[in-house]
Amino acid sequence: MNRQVYTFGGNAGNDVRNDDPRGRDKVVVGGKGANLAEMAGIGLPVPPGFTITTEECVKYLAEGGDFSDALRADVAEALTHIEKTVGKAFGDAADPLLVSVRSGARVSMPGMMDTVLNLGLNDATVEGLTQTSGDERFAWDSYRRFIQMYSDVVLGLDHGRFEEALEIAKEDNGYMNDVEMTASNWKAVVREYKGIVEEQLGRPFPQDVQEQLWGAIRAVFDSWDSDRARVYRRLNDIPGDWGTAVNVQAMVFGNMGDTSATGVAFTRDPATGEKAYYGEWLVNAQGEDVVAGIRTPQYLTKAARERARAKPLSMEEAMPEAYTELAAVFELLEKHYRDMQDIEFTVERGKLWMLQTRSGKRTAKAALKMAVEMVDEGLIDEATAIVRVDPMALDQLLHPTLDPKAPRDILGKGLPASPGAASGAIVLDADTAEKRAEMGEAVVLVRVETSPEDIHGMHAARGILTARGGMTSHAAVVARGMGRPCVSGASGLSIDMKSRTLRMGNRALKEGDVITLDGATGDIMAGEVPTIEPELAGDFATLMVWADKHRRMKVRTNAETPADCRMARQFGAEGIGLCRTEHMFFDAGRISAVRQMILAEDEGGRRAALTKLLPEQRADFIGIFEVMAGLPVTIRLLDPPLHEFLPHGDGEFAELSDAIGIGVETLKRRAEELHEFNPMLGHRGCRLGITFPEIYEMQARAIFEAACDVAAASGEAIVPEVMIPLVATRRELQILKKVVDETAVRVFAEKGHVLDYMVGTMIELPRAALMAGEIAEEARFFSFGTNDLTQTTLGVSRDDAARFLSPYVEKGIYPRDPFVSLDIEGVGQLVQMGAERGRAVRCDLKLGICGEHGGDPASIAFCEKVGLDYVSASPYRVPIARLAAAQAALAK
Ligand code: ADP
Ligand code: MG
Ligand code: MG
Repeated sequence: MNRQVYTFGGNAGNDVRNDDPRGRDKVVVGGKGANLAEMAGIGLPVPPGFTITTEECVKYLAEGGDFSDALRADVAEALTHIEKTVGKAFGDAADPLLVSVRSGARVSMPGMMDTVLNLGLNDATVEGLTQTSGDERFAWDSYRRFIQMYSDVVLGLDHGRFEEALEIAKEDNGYMNDVEMTASNWKAVVREYKGIVEEQLGRPFPQDVQEQLWGAIRAVFDSWDSDRARVYRRLNDIPGDWGTAVNVQAMVFGNMGDTSATGVAFTRDPATGEKAYYGEWLVNAQGEDVVAGIRTPQYLTKAARERARAKPLSMEEAMPEAYTELAAVFELLEKHYRDMQDIEFTVERGKLWMLQTRSGKRTAKAALKMAVEMVDEGLIDEATAIVRVDPMALDQLLHPTLDPKAPRDILGKGLPASPGAASGAIVLDADTAEKRAEMGEAVVLVRVETSPEDIHGMHAARGILTARGGMTSHAAVVARGMGRPCVSGASGLSIDMKSRTLRMGNRALKEGDVITLDGATGDIMAGEVPTIEPELAGDFATLMVWADKHRRMKVRTNAETPADCRMARQFGAEGIGLCRTEHMFFDAGRISAVRQMILAEDEGGRRAALTKLLPEQRADFIGIFEVMAGLPVTIRLLDPPLHEFLPHGDGEFAELSDAIGIGVETLKRRAEELHEFNPMLGHRGCRLGITFPEIYEMQARAIFEAACDVAAASGEAIVPEVMIPLVATRRELQILKKVVDETAVRVFAEKGHVLDYMVGTMIELPRAALMAGEIAEEARFFSFGTNDLTQTTLGVSRDDAARFLSPYVEKGIYPRDPFVSLDIEGVGQLVQMGAERGRAVRCDLKLGICGEHGGDPASIAFCEKVGLDYVSASPYRVPIARLAAAQAALAK
């Protein structure tokens, strides 16, 4: 039987439970618990405590909220460990032990229960605390904090009432700040608070310390199933069955006067990645004061304070001894974890205590810089650097930034909390943000400050702006994690929720007005500011070089214009995996020739229209081959249902009639005939080629003529890969391959130039995957078209899925949107089968993937596993795919 309670800290060194690796395993004791044990283990000053495992939480929730006797016994024993270590007893009226109760899942989760501090205080122990600390004001300040937190977090009472009571108390005394409150002021507040509790709860605030403790433990466990936690899990793909651990830890006090303090720090700058300590602290305060924005925190280092031209002393200046000790801890922790750490600490009467460490969240830019610099410093190797950067986070850097030359109408300034540029309409609450974003509107969420209830709105918004809060505020931390640009603590900003308007300096704005944020500078601007394209340089380029060294699969792009091709090559694309020729047909200049072709009554009519399209299509391919010279280019012949091209409305019919000289009535009748009940499964893909071979013949001619011309002009090898879509049977491919081959022979004879080329097929129907062996006899390559393969395997039309797919994902029917991340269990089997059966027949069969999934890291990992030769992604996703492919290769 495994233990369900693990102690840490103090003199637990000779405690057998502390040597159990489970006690330092995030899966068992959560991230916070594991790291507390780890820090204590390497000799850092950690207040003693214990952790109840995540397994116990899962059991508790499954069993309908009961604690076992075994758990009660283990907790009692672990509490004794804390009591012995600090020499105080829990509930002892003379010299009471106080504890914090903290949640802590496997990964840090803002949706979880808030921490309760100072637990163990009651009317009797507060007197003991007064005696032992010799500080009456401190004791009663702690008691009022405890009642307020416990009432909010555990008892679920309305915290507004408590805040109001405190405001009134301050006003009555003419105070601006909490620090001005005296011992007797706090006593009065406690009396007031207890009255509020009794009124709302119908019974007095719990005085029994055991009841307090178990109430808090229960609240932590229950918070795993809270709405907040569920939303966060859904947005971050965290499984619902992990559970959270509970950490109970002896209190240390940062609110014991001017030699005490509390703070949060990063060992490197989490926004830029710069190797400089970075953090915020407050004198005479408890932990939550720093993040809650009650008082404006002070800078940690002298350099940061001077750079910001701030007056209040930095910790480096105000508490040099504790600061020096803290800096040594930073160094030790970075060496130990070989990563940037996000740290919480408290100084109690000059003595430093460590309360938390974890790998710090960082922006993509910072992640790159740190990964590259840590390799240079010898802290990590290249492979670790590659694995450490989240490919999806690169998305932040692959998007346009504000054009420095564009004029900016600056409204105000805040802290540069999360970089990137965002423009959008102002929205003042999270629900509105979500609603308007769903309608396709770009929105910027503007709040006084954010809380975990705002997560869905922050996710829906392009950017986040807050009036309060520092660089480590909730808004800043969450925005950085989500990759949303954020400007926090814009002190000139005031919001009036009643009229839904805001003021910035002397400017008035209202909800719906468009603003632009620059998260890298903190600038807030009126209107939309133009942006410029990103480029791969510096640390990003360095990491890409390393990734390229370690990956096996090639990375191609999906593109159909020379401009996209150029962009993709700059991002490192090694060819085109999918060039969708129908995109070229939609062009305004050619649509009437395309319509003429479709509506033609016979082959003669179609050929006449195709003759007009040939030079246009050839010019397209020339442009692409020129950019992609020397690299493989896969061109998919026409795929979409014909009705997509049909004219709409009388105007368009009349226009077309004039252009091609066929009567409107005839055209309308033909259009009527082309109507399909289910176009997705209708007359499209190779079925068009089978019924109207002249279309594919024209396209093949355009491809080969272009390839010959560019090859002759440039001297580069051009290797077109002609791809036949929507094949289900070998015979289809055989017939169409013949059309392509015959066209090639003809063009080569005409041009006096012979090229190597390939004919292959998309595998995008289940039958094609099943019959891949036979099909491979005709195909030199397969490209898994996983968009259609997902539609046809799941029997779900992507365009109609919006209505039901998100509830499906919420209920865990599909772990993620199967059109975003490949359904590996199901559709993946078909991909694997297709690859195996195809290769069994033709060992040099080239295999690739060209659906949206080609840019999704989880799907890319799967492609590596089944041995595909390449993935193909949209141009902006090419670097993401390069990194993900390297990670996949390294994971093998
Ligand atoms: P979160 O995960 O929201 O950061 P924490 O459990 O880390 O929640 O705690 C919230 C705040 O309370 C932090 O500032 C932390 O340092 C402080 N804190 C937690 N436990 C203690 C303790 N035993 N003594 C003093 N401060 C504590
Ligand atoms: Mg914390
Ligand atoms: Mg398709």
